[in-house]
Amino acid sequence: MIVLKNVEFSYNGIPTLKGINIEIEEGKVVAILGPNGAGKSTLLKCINGLLKPRGSIYISGLSLKELKPEEAAKLIAYVPQKSNPTFMSVFDYVLLGRKPHMGLNVGKKDMKIVENVLRMLGIERLALKKLKQLSGGELQKVVIARALAQEAKVLLLDEPTNNLDLKSQLEFMHLVKKLSLEKGITAVVVVHDVNIALRFADEFIFMKNGEIVAKGGHEIVTPELISKVYEIPVTIHKLSGVPVVIPV
Ligand code: ADP
Repeated sequence: MIVLKNVEFSYNGIPTLKGINIEIEEGKVVAILGPNGAGKSTLLKCINGLLKPRGSIYISGLSLKELKPEEAAKLIAYVPQKSNPTFMSVFDYVLLGRKPHMGLNVGKKDMKIVENVLRMLGIERLALKKLKQLSGGELQKVVIARALAQEAKVLLLDEPTNNLDLKSQLEFMHLVKKLSLEKGITAVVVVHDVNIALRFADEFIFMKNGEIVAKGGHEIVTPELISKVYEIPVTIHKLSGVPVVIPV
């Protein structure tokens, strides 16, 4: 469980997160939505421990403030908006996910975990490729592989489907959903596409101007809420049982 109590954060004295209170259950996929500048990325960076906000954050009952960075890394894997593809091989990159668990030497267990993760995601054929040679969809899977090698129970994903084509977007979100259902991983995902969120998320957190406007399950996602958050009139229709937000 992730708990945030009265979390506040300012950049250079400018309040960016204001009185954030959230409880996220284990094994859920939670979408964070809201217009640009709402504070979504800042919130993820606070949960990751990258930024130090006022208030309290607990991960599985442990206070983030009291955890050492390597202890936090065993609990939380953070995937930033931009992953910089380099000439590193996929295998080596995923192996870096083992860093919080390793001493100075790479052990057999670490190698085995990387192999297993690559196989589980069906990307073992990419093991020796360089990150720079991958397509956007492949790179995102590799980034997730590294997070899984880290064996963290919480994945924080910042706009992971940006720059992916429609098929890769759906495949990626399917993968996140599968990991939550089969491995009990909690995924907190910043997404721009409300319709992708409606398909895959169990819970929704809508933010605007550094505040939470609404949070809850599918029932909270109404045309009124979307219109209020994004300042455009919308309707919501069900197509083949899936709610779809349509701007009018
Ligand atoms: P979102 O992810 O919802 O688009 P962000 O969390 O990135 O929003 O940004 C929230 C606000 O904080 C914006 O006004 C942005 O300009 C500001 N901000 C983000 N990062 C920094 C930074 N490193 N320094 C100063 N201001 C920042």
